[in-house]
Amino acid sequence: MSQLPGILKGLKVTFKTMMKTLFPGGLLKPIPKPSEGALTVQYPHVKEAPPSRARGVIALHEGNCTACMLCARECPDWCIYIEGHKELAPPRREGGKPRQVNAIDRFDIDFSLCMFCGICVEVCPFDALFWTPEYEFSELKLADLLHDKERLGEWMETVPDFEEYEDGSEQKVRKVPR
Ligand code: SF4
Ligand code: SF4
Repeated sequence: MSQLPGILKGLKVTFKTMMKTLFPGGLLKPIPKPSEGALTVQYPHVKEAPPSRARGVIALHEGNCTACMLCARECPDWCIYIEGHKELAPPRREGGKPRQVNAIDRFDIDFSLCMFCGICVEVCPFDALFWTPEYEFSELKLADLLHDKERLGEWMETVPDFEEYEDGSEQKVRKVPR
């Protein structure tokens, strides 16, 4: 029973926190309605607009992807699956040799494993991956959280334009391919 004082102390802290949450304005003022400043949003009846840089879901601009595999190799969760093949593309200049390019056969991201760290978006050297604030893509089955390249491509429509950085920033503002 030597643990009793500790348990009681813990319960006291929990009780105090609960009362603060239920009655933020005192005992006579119960939890305010959302319109009166409650922090809880009654989703899905009320939807919040996330900030434009929020990490909702990842979009793929397939035209920029060279199947270099960098994102798949750097992903800590190993949840990007890429398969591609080499093919010949027309030369850049008349009379030149045909170029060898990588074409993507498969580009999937499994959002049931993804931890939204953003490493893949950061490391992509060809601006093929973008964050979009879209967050409504829950599924009843885990397997349906695997988005293929077509689905990832559809998210491109929801990628917001990049905002200008602060004065003095040396960062180049990225352009979203449309
Ligand atoms: S956000 Fe992180 S975990 Fe998710 S696919 Fe990209 S690198 Fe992997
Ligand atoms: S998305 Fe970017 S990093 Fe990933 S394979 Fe394509 S070009 Fe390479």
